[in-house]
Amino acid sequence: MSYYLATKTSIADWIKGLASRDSVYFPMKHGQVSYRFTQIQPDTEIQFEHYTPTVVPPVKLLLPAREELLQFRKNAEGKSEVRASLDTSSRIIAGIRPCDLKGIFLMDLFFKDGSPDAYYLARRENTALIGYACETPCDPRAFCAAVESLNHAEGADVFLTPLENGNVLVEVKTELGKKLTEGAGWKVCDKDPRGSKTAKAVQPFGRQFAASVQDISRIVASKYQSPVWEKHVAHCFSCGTCNLVCPTCYCFDVHDDLNLDAVSGNRTRTWDGCMLPHFALVGGGHNFRPEPASRQRHRVSRKFEYLPEKYKHGAVCVGCGRCGRQCTSHIDIYDIVSDLIAEGGR
Ligand code: SF4
Ligand code: SF4
Repeated sequence: MSYYLATKTSIADWIKGLASRDSVYFPMKHGQVSYRFTQIQPDTEIQFEHYTPTVVPPVKLLLPAREELLQFRKNAEGKSEVRASLDTSSRIIAGIRPCDLKGIFLMDLFFKDGSPDAYYLARRENTALIGYACETPCDPRAFCAAVESLNHAEGADVFLTPLENGNVLVEVKTELGKKLTEGAGWKVCDKDPRGSKTAKAVQPFGRQFAASVQDISRIVASKYQSPVWEKHVAHCFSCGTCNLVCPTCYCFDVHDDLNLDAVSGNRTRTWDGCMLPHFALVGGGHNFRPEPASRQRHRVSRKFEYLPEKYKHGAVCVGCGRCGRQCTSHIDIYDIVSDLIAEGGR
């Protein structure tokens, strides 16, 4: 690990310089209030000061909404030929907040587990990550500190932290980060100069829970019959938006399409979501979770009980607040968990 001190202007120039030789994605204003990770050009004006979390998190650049997995055809001898459609192009995602870095860190775990997912991993191996620490909560719905993702920097190749004097501390964390920062010309630091010099984070940082992440896991596990599940789906449209914008939701569907020649076609995968009514529908017509409340319970339990127990890396909700922000009915996972905690017991 090496450290440098840089001005904000030199950081912006460095990012724009990277865009002249690679595909660089950065959070850019999209419409009046929204932000989107957008491919920038060397002359694009970028700023690090503040952005409301992008509607779609950066991890979805590694797991597109729809992607071709393979093409197949039957050749003249009647034998099947299959060609995988791996995306090995390189990209840099810059300006990633700690909560979204934690999202990518968790997705890496999920997609390496069991049968490693060649498609996600091909993109991930060819993607550099540049993180940026938060000085203030990005949005009133954020609760990253409450789920211990505010200080997450693991997975970043370069991590940037604003300092009190207006400069930026550059942490080069990997060999790839070293390559990206070569020749930047910043002032070298012998050691981590943070501590009193780090820009002061406001306290408390964002919304807090009245229980620790570990206690929440036990509380959720004991609330299978709670009336809270019904309460928070009274106005749910089962649209699945909360799944689609979540940096830790990864469920997908796979289907084959046959071309008109009837001997060739392709296989694609598309995002799916456990809040959609058909999600747990199986052959024979049985639906394991026909009611919105049972689907909501499943979603919350995945984030706070099932996956934390399996992977041992804390909550699988990173507190970005996207699901509550984007839900037409303002159904917020923070409110659901707070109500479960308020019910007491565990
Ligand atoms: S976004 Fe809101 S309305 Fe849509 S499924 Fe999720 S909780 Fe229900
Ligand atoms: S459950 Fe909601 S707040 Fe938690 S990570 Fe997903 S979108 Fe963000």
